[in-house]
Amino acid sequence: MSKHVHVIGAGFAGLTVSLRLAQKGFTVDLYESSSRVGGLLGTENTEHGLAERAANALIRTYKAEELFNELGLTSVVPLEDSKRRFIFRDKPKRWPLTILETFATAFRFLPSFIFNKPSVFPRANETLHNWGERHLGPAAARYLLGPAMQGIYATGAEHLSSELILGPSFRRKTKSGAFRGLLTGTNGMQGLVDALEEKLKSLGVKIHLNTQVNVSELQGPVVIATSSTAAAKILETAEPHTAKLLNRINTASLLSVKLFFKTRQTKYKGFGCLVPQLYGMKTLGVLMNTYIFPDRDKTYNETWILGGNNAGDILDAADSEILKQIAEERFKILGIKDALLDYRLHRWKKALPLYDLELEKVLHELKSQPQGRVFLHGNYLGGIGLSKILDRSDELAEEIANRG
Ligand SMILES: Cc1cc2nc3c(=O)[nH]c(=O)nc-3n(C[C@H](O)[C@H](O)[C@H](O)COP(=O)(O)OP(=O)(O)OC[C@H]3O[C@@H](n4cnc5c(N)ncnc54)[C@H](O)[C@@H]3O)c2cc1C
Repeated sequence: MSKHVHVIGAGFAGLTVSLRLAQKGFTVDLYESSSRVGGLLGTENTEHGLAERAANALIRTYKAEELFNELGLTSVVPLEDSKRRFIFRDKPKRWPLTILETFATAFRFLPSFIFNKPSVFPRANETLHNWGERHLGPAAARYLLGPAMQGIYATGAEHLSSELILGPSFRRKTKSGAFRGLLTGTNGMQGLVDALEEKLKSLGVKIHLNTQVNVSELQGPVVIATSSTAAAKILETAEPHTAKLLNRINTASLLSVKLFFKTRQTKYKGFGCLVPQLYGMKTLGVLMNTYIFPDRDKTYNETWILGGNNAGDILDAADSEILKQIAEERFKILGIKDALLDYRLHRWKKALPLYDLELEKVLHELKSQPQGRVFLHGNYLGGIGLSKILDRSDELAEEIANRG
């Protein structure tokens, strides 16, 4: 196979797969339709401190640490305070279940898990909520599993596929190591993007900004590292069957609002608070940034994430209306009102793939297709977070290299 690879899309997926391909000796052309690389990632350096546009950290896997080391980035790890995480059940709680519910959950789950592990494996076409009700009971499904997964997948457990979310962990044969927290750089996600761009240039990768290419006109392997919606458009004529499958993937829209306050709230010092959907709020969760990473803020600030599958029309509302909604929900959730100093608001339309039962079917069908010269990459292929995307970049580069 050709030693020349074309990569379309310069978000985290496109940047990291280009890096791994270049390191394996491939000549890489990277095409980005916008005027900058990084995709969803980016950080604004405001007078109050750093403000992330979307993601604020990676899961601290060994591969993520390795990437930081090879890029020469200083790793920033979370503060002790961030170990406290809250879930809203009438008020923010470290543990949202009652003692009775906790025992009922343990008695329901542990015997099956210990003595008959396959019986707790998720079933095909089963929602995460149904899996939770079956194995953990209604309270844990509603107040623990649902909000915890909603914090990652931006969607309630009633819509999520248990196979996509839990399947890989249940079926994994070797231990991947304990959860080791989170990781970011001193200049946030933009620092990571800048370092990746610089490294790619030093390895001879040609980055073409403001460029859209026609897949049919490219020779050799092509990696499409965009959202599923953009990938469907790119493949419309070259691979209509794949495009049709990709078009079936549902997406969630999100609002990410960074609020800088005049005074620091000290009532809840921790990573943040997740809000179960049954409360009917627009808020999915709040991150208490000042208590997460050190030395980034001059002013106390929080990031409010709204939307997901219950986004409604909030995404199209004026900034003032959104801020009013957040102020009301902040009072309901944290029980406080503070004067706002400044804010940064990002509307992410159709930003994240929904890990629902439809995606489970689509991925199954995509896997059964013969692999041609076009390879798919991105957050809809089994891992929504940056560390999972990094894993796939490694695997994909290896797969392309092994083909010739
Ligand atoms: C609010 C929010 C918070 C998040 N927080 C976290 C977090 O804390 N930790 C975490 O791990 N993950 C987080 N995520 C998820 C993570 O940020 C994304 O899954 C990841 O950044 C997606 O990267 P990507 O490269 O697959 O896609 P993208 O970042 O969407 O990049 C795709 C790129 O392709 C380009 N493109 C599109 N069409 C074309 C075309 N035709 N030709 C050329 N280029 C094209 C786009 O312009 C874009 O630059 C968050 C996401 C959101 C929205």
